[in-house]
Amino acid sequence: MPLDSTAGFKGTSARPWTAEEDALLIEARALGFKYGEITVLLDRPVGESAIRARLDVLAAREAERRESERLASRQKTRRCLCCQAAFLSQHAGNRLCDVCREAAGHVSPIEPDDFSGADE
Ligand SMILES: [Zn+2]
Repeated sequence: MPLDSTAGFKGTSARPWTAEEDALLIEARALGFKYGEITVLLDRPVGESAIRARLDVLAAREAERRESERLASRQKTRRCLCCQAAFLSQHAGNRLCDVCREAAGHVSPIEPDDFSGADE
């Protein structure tokens, strides 16, 4: 990654984390390395708190990815109970297309979590 030292960053701690560094952090933690040990592995001057903060960010990102994957797995093309048109239903309880739902002024009180994988 090209670094421009005139870009205004004071010291390398302001440098964005690279994908390689992120991967190294995750790998090192998975292997049981302590934060202090990881600071030595990285080619940047960071403290344990920076490592911990970065791992928090990565964990949150991963949780978000899993959640969107989980929700996506419930999506399915279903037929609208009202107009019979095929539409991308968000979950098993979502049986009205957007047009019909809006026309009915109906906002479903049912959230995906009310269905534990139940599907047709
Ligand atoms: Zn419809």
